[in-house]
Amino acid sequence: MANYEIKKLIERSEIEKRIGEVAETIDRDYEGKNPIVAVVLKGGFIFAADLLRNMHIRFTLDFIGASSYIGKESSGDIKITKDLDTPLSGRHLILVEDIVDTGLTLHKLCRLLEQRDPASISIATLLLKEIERDFELPVEYCGFTIPNKFVVGFGLDYSERHRGLPYIGYIDMKGQE
Ligand code: 5GP
Repeated sequence: MANYEIKKLIERSEIEKRIGEVAETIDRDYEGKNPIVAVVLKGGFIFAADLLRNMHIRFTLDFIGASSYIGKESSGDIKITKDLDTPLSGRHLILVEDIVDTGLTLHKLCRLLEQRDPASISIATLLLKEIERDFELPVEYCGFTIPNKFVVGFGLDYSERHRGLPYIGYIDMKGQE
């Protein structure tokens, strides 16, 4: 039976403050551009809710879901599980994610969405893991850079648990038998 503890990594107050700062930067960068803000499901929804409540510019809200084909890591394929409702051509797109780990899913998603001729694509992520990546990702907006630990809370789950935690914690398996 799995036995683990959740150790606090980032306090709620710190997250709220930082999200306010990120929103301010996005407001400044996208003033008058009416970007499509696309929440990447599922985990991005809580960060997005806080981010959007702090933004003051006009934007179009949309949602997108994607998953990599399991067991085919090098194939470069992803499956869109929920597509955008808004046509992308000529529009600025901001993808809102909970976490960028390897970044592979987002990398493939960006390549796929580029084919729809958006004016630009950028990524706003609450968390960015500090690991090496051998491809470019347009992560223009980042809440926190974190160590390579498995984190939960603020939309992030561990087997669908802990998404509702109001802070970011990491799973500590030390107690496991
Ligand atoms: P990627 O490796 O493609 O950047 O990450 C794909 C997805 O894996 C993320 O969107 C997220 O759903 C999940 N993921 C990656 N790292 C973590 C983590 O530390 N905690 C949780 N809960 N999910 C993660």
